[in-house]
Amino acid sequence: MAEFLGDWRRNCRCAELGEGDVGREVTLMGWVSRVRNMGGILFVWLRDRSGLIQVVFDHRHLPEDAYRVAETLRPEFVMAVRGEVKRRDEQAVNAGMATGRIEVVAKEVKILNEAATPPIYTDDGVSENEAVRLKYRYLDLRRPSMQRMLLTRSTVVNAIRRHMLDEGFVEVETPILTKSTPEGARDFLVPSRIHTGKFYALPQSPQIYKQLLMLAGTDRYFQIAKCFRDEDSRADRQPEFTQLDLEMSFVEPRDVQDTVEGAFKAVFGQAKGISLTLPLPRMTWKDAMENYGSDKPDLRFGMKISLHEGWAADCGFSVFENAVALGGTVCAIKAEGAAEGLSRKEMDALSEFVKTYHVKGLAWLAVSADGTVRSSFAKFLKPEKMEQLTAAMGISPGDAVFMIADRKLVALTAMGQLRVRLGRQLNLIDPDRYELLWVTEFPLLEWNEEAQRYAAAHHPFTMPMEEDFHLLDEHPEQVRAKSYDLVLNGIEMGSGSIRIHASDLQERMFSLLGFTHEEAWERFGFLLEAFRYGTPPHGGFAFGIDRLMMMLTGAESLRDVIAFPKVQNASCLMMDTPSAVGEEQLRLLHLRQDKG
Ligand code: ASP
Repeated sequence: MAEFLGDWRRNCRCAELGEGDVGREVTLMGWVSRVRNMGGILFVWLRDRSGLIQVVFDHRHLPEDAYRVAETLRPEFVMAVRGEVKRRDEQAVNAGMATGRIEVVAKEVKILNEAATPPIYTDDGVSENEAVRLKYRYLDLRRPSMQRMLLTRSTVVNAIRRHMLDEGFVEVETPILTKSTPEGARDFLVPSRIHTGKFYALPQSPQIYKQLLMLAGTDRYFQIAKCFRDEDSRADRQPEFTQLDLEMSFVEPRDVQDTVEGAFKAVFGQAKGISLTLPLPRMTWKDAMENYGSDKPDLRFGMKISLHEGWAADCGFSVFENAVALGGTVCAIKAEGAAEGLSRKEMDALSEFVKTYHVKGLAWLAVSADGTVRSSFAKFLKPEKMEQLTAAMGISPGDAVFMIADRKLVALTAMGQLRVRLGRQLNLIDPDRYELLWVTEFPLLEWNEEAQRYAAAHHPFTMPMEEDFHLLDEHPEQVRAKSYDLVLNGIEMGSGSIRIHASDLQERMFSLLGFTHEEAWERFGFLLEAFRYGTPPHGGFAFGIDRLMMMLTGAESLRDVIAFPKVQNASCLMMDTPSAVGEEQLRLLHLRQDKG
């Protein structure tokens, strides 16, 4: 039977108690985690958001009716207890429990509510099927590790918010019922009841609003923003996610980067006790691709890529020579000391691996400790070429070398993937390190083979680099953008750019992207018009808080850092969303179900 609180009030949380509290009278409230009945003495683990504490019910020191109540306690019952904090005997100390040196000796007890037998364990360390955990998420969240996650998340969000406010930013909420925004994903649509046949779109980001706020004179805007993207279920994505979204007026990339870095420093300091050294390193996109084969290089290990076009042009191996003759590249990485561990079979597996990144093959070379060379290509090289390569790459006995010849970006990308795979395989990555960097000057445009036209690499409001304006008409593919990504341990945390603030340049950009004047005005007319009324130079950034949380907590999935996540097919197992609606509701929205 459920009891009422009456005049009972909790005066602290379970795991806030320590040896310094011995002798204190406390009132605790929480959930029963475990009950051990030793016949005349009950040991009950009581759990609240802070953690666990042992409560002892001893029939010798308790009124009989209170002891009888205590005997009915079962896991997940909601209990209130009054008692005294005592030091445990040395042999009863539980080193695995934060409060394991003390216990509360109960004097009074109330059962505030009973509980049915829960379908999952709420202790850490008991692994449960994820689908069941998510169906009973409110029970899953009772686990101490999940409560800690929620607390960390709150710390992270508040560290960011405080930093932004300290930097003079204004927090503005932008609409959720809005119009399509050009982030390149599919929109979630909401049918309008009042406007037959019309739909709102949920924002993929507050991009257009934040730019309009700069026009409005807000100067510095931020928002902890919910964004919605209806993407095909890729490995670890959530249809709705949270970003720190910001925009600033009268700035260049460096100013935006400084602000974002400051937020990261605050987060790492407050959530992890790690002091980041600022400014963070910066690398152009070109350097990132040429050295790491990736626009999000993992700097926790070396194994840089090197280019060998000059050497390869007349090396004797036709595959290399042809790649160079066709304007491509020959690139290489060296895995120090890895030769002995890599069997022929493993080399074949690595070759198959790189082929999935669209290169024709992988050339390899392994020098054993005694200097013997095994190689897929050395026999084709002119005599002096092996020596030249050895000198250029500093190859020593024990090293393995991998080479790829192909079109430059394709070869580098495949090599970048191989680098990461080898880094993991050879245990070169320290999981406790955090390597942040800026990647800057991305190409403005990407060629879309399917549509046979350019697409914006970031989004259509991104400013080209002034130095490259002259290339816009003749060689748009060579134009670099004033855009920048923040990368952490090989993962993109967020991106941003300086925006186009001149309407003629914005129109030119739309035309490069294949929009006619009419189409551009139809889709973005309100923005193009707004640009005519005095737009300040501005730029911004957004980073995903869910992904940052994952990196900070070492979680394996975004689902582990979101209170109520969706699963891969975008449904919520707990609430069973999305769900069917009644005919009447559909009728009001002017919708009819296609039964066909
Ligand atoms: N709106 C962009 C995004 O959501 C970020 C930005 O350019 O500020 O990725």
